[in-house]
Parts: sequence; C-alpha cells; structure tokens
Amino acid sequence: MKETYSRSKSVWQRMNARERKAAMAYGEKYKAFLDTARTERLAAAEIIRRAEEKGFKPVYIMKSLKAGDKVYWNQKDKSVILAVIGKEPVHEIVGSHIDSPRLDLKANPVHEQDGIVYFRTHYYGGIKKYQWTCIPLALIGVVFTKDGKKVDINIGLKDSDPVFYVSDLLIHMAQDQMKKTLAEGITGEQLQAVAGTHSEEGQTPKDAIMALLKKEYGIEEEDFAAAELELVPATKSRDVGFDRSLIASYGQDDRVCSYANLEAILDAKPGVKTQAALLTDKEEIGSYGNTGMESSYFVKFVMKLLALQGQGSLLDFYETMENSEMLSADVNSCLDPMFPEVSEKDNASFLGYGINLTKYGGSRGKSGSNDANAEFLQKVRKIFNDAGVCWQIGELGKVDQGGGGTIAFMMANWGVEVVDCGTSMLSMHAPCDLLSKADAYETYLAYKAFFESR
Ligand code: MN
Ligand code: MN
Repeated sequence: MKETYSRSKSVWQRMNARERKAAMAYGEKYKAFLDTARTERLAAAEIIRRAEEKGFKPVYIMKSLKAGDKVYWNQKDKSVILAVIGKEPVHEIVGSHIDSPRLDLKANPVHEQDGIVYFRTHYYGGIKKYQWTCIPLALIGVVFTKDGKKVDINIGLKDSDPVFYVSDLLIHMAQDQMKKTLAEGITGEQLQAVAGTHSEEGQTPKDAIMALLKKEYGIEEEDFAAAELELVPATKSRDVGFDRSLIASYGQDDRVCSYANLEAILDAKPGVKTQAALLTDKEEIGSYGNTGMESSYFVKFVMKLLALQGQGSLLDFYETMENSEMLSADVNSCLDPMFPEVSEKDNASFLGYGINLTKYGGSRGKSGSNDANAEFLQKVRKIFNDAGVCWQIGELGKVDQGGGGTIAFMMANWGVEVVDCGTSMLSMHAPCDLLSKADAYETYLAYKAFFESR
C-alpha cells in the first residue's frame, strides 16, 4: 500500500503502475462530466441520470425505507441529495457544491450600442473581471414565455454552435487602462457579451436579434425577466502538460469534488450508517436561496428519511444530526510557485500531493471558520491511512492574507461533525482553472473510503 502522507514525494511518485493508470482513466471520465455538467442545472440533471441508472429512486414516492434502499432528493432541479440507507439512521455525508462563478444575464439584458447588440450581465460569485474578456462563452439556462412554456437554452458547447464574447481594449490604445488596478481595468458594467450585429435594411440590429429569438425560441424581450441564463466558458476541458498529469477546465470548483462525491456514493459498499452525497447550489454567493445550504432542504430530507423509517420526532432528528459526520467537500488553493508570497509553505498544500484536509478556513483570526475538532480529524486521518488514500494538510493562504468559507459551518450548526476536505487547485474561480489528476483521483478514493468506514 502506498505511503499516505508525505510533503516530499508527490502522489505520482508513490503510486504503482496500476494506480497511475487508474488515476488517468478517472481523469477521462471526470473531463466528460465537466463538459456535460457546465451549470448547476446541467450538473443536477446529469447526477440524477447517473443515480437513476444505478437504481436510485425519488424519496417522495417511497412508502417506507429499509437498509440498502437508494433514494434521491431533487431540490428544484438545482441541488441533489443521494442517499444509501443504512442499518442506522445516522449519516455519513459528503457535501459538495455544483454551482460555479459565471456571468448571469440581467433581467433586461438586450441592448444595442453603435450597431452591436449586447447582453448586459451581473457576475455570479467572486471573479477577477478582466479574466472573463476575450474568451468564447456559452449561453445556458431556462426562459419562460408569457404563456408559461419553459424553453431550455444551450448554445455554445457544440463545436458547430456560435458563442458569445466580451471584448477588451486593444493594447495599442490601452495606455490609460493599463495604469488602472486589476480590479478596475474592467468594470462589472463592461462585462457585456456581444450577441450579434446582422440586420437588414430598415431594421436595427437589436430588432433583428429579437426577431431571431422569437423565431427560433419563441422568446420576447419581456421573457428575460422570467429567466435564468448563464454565460459560461465554452471551451472543453483539456489535459495539461506533456505527461497529461493535469486538467485545465471551467468549473472545477467544485465539480472536482462533486464528481468524486457522485462516483464515490455510486461505487461505495453500503454501510451500517446511511450514506448521503449532498450536491448543493448557491455556495458561490453565500449559500442563500432555497437551493442553498442555508435553507431547510437538507433538514427536510433527513426528517423525511427518518419518518419513512418510523422515527419522525424532533428529538430523533437532532440526535441523528448530532451523531452524523461530514466531509465538507470543496476545493482549496495550493502553493503556486509563481505567487509563493501569499502562502506559508509549511502549511500550504502542494499540487499533486493528495486530497487536502483543512482544519479551518475563515480569514484573519479564523473568522467565520468551522474549525474542526481534533477528535474528528483523527478519525478522518485514520480512515484515509487505513484505506491507502494520499492526503495532505493545507491552509488557504498566509494568516493575514486570505481566507474563504464553505458549507461546513452550516452543517456544524446542526451538531454534525464536519471537516473541510477537498482537492487543491491553481487559478481557482478563473474561466479555466488547473488541478492534478492524481489529486482528483485521491479525492474520489477519500470520499469512497469515508462512505465505507464504520
Ligand atoms: Mn467551492
Ligand atoms: Mn468557489
């Protein structure tokens, strides 16, 4: 069995030929997921499709539950919970999120300026705005027409599709722009995506685009007010490096953990405890809204499971939560050799050194952090060591430098034991971010080992 903890040898150096092959094969399946599950709605649909294939049933049709039953909860097509019922009601939860930073269309997005038709946007999640210019963008989401018809939009992912594009100023005329800070060089209002220019005589370009939308999709201008349309990078995921050891793609925060979570619960042997894979929406904007973790849907789900097992009291619920354990499965930063000044090397994670166990996140004095209990860290560390999972520790930046939050503290509020545990990556929240196939594979092995632990 390979050495599970090392700060001097990468996972690649510790793997045998069979393990390396398995990690590379996992990378292929993971890339296919990234290219399919580009938004939270597409991710939720793909997760449910895969789960149904493996015999998971919607929990709302169940009359009772027994050990071994596989059920799922669909929260408004944007969040999903999968569960394999155990002999005991307590849960082993792996909680990840399926939303990613992007540009959302405003409610009145179409506007024309100097012959060009634009979509006005409001960005979703934390982004470096200048990174979202000059890249091909796909438009994905839903629109309702006045008579209530739901229209699914998915334009830009197929090679034959057109894409959308946010322009930046050419370098030749950018003297003044180049003196601005990176935060000010491109403003939020400048993140407008070009949607067309063609029109015929006697017609404005905006009229022409609206006529095209009416003809092809039945959409009128007012319908954008009853829509959720997202601009996401259109480029497919790619291998990086001569050795193909890395993956560059949009949305790996947090689909690397979400994909590992999905594969782990589908592959894990059923346990004594109930296994639950939580794949939630809205993490990137603070977990608000009724598809986010601050809302009540996970609580309702657990209560529903308990009721179907004849244990519906409030006390049963609290005891279940108190005795449950969770890996908060979200990505973390790792040491970037091009920006070493933001990390403290002895407590940073490294690219390709295994799944990252993070006792606390938060910022400047652990503020807002879950700060996991040592007892639970010991338990998780032992699970990984016993199962041969490569893991490492890693803080999010130097003490006074950075910080960030996950869904960990929200579950801890119910009494659940939680620790942050996910994949390390570079260029997080960029339109195309980077991580190691070895780390992605160890993330899957880690979640599977956690589900299978007693
Ligand atoms: Mn995340
Ligand atoms: Mn994030």
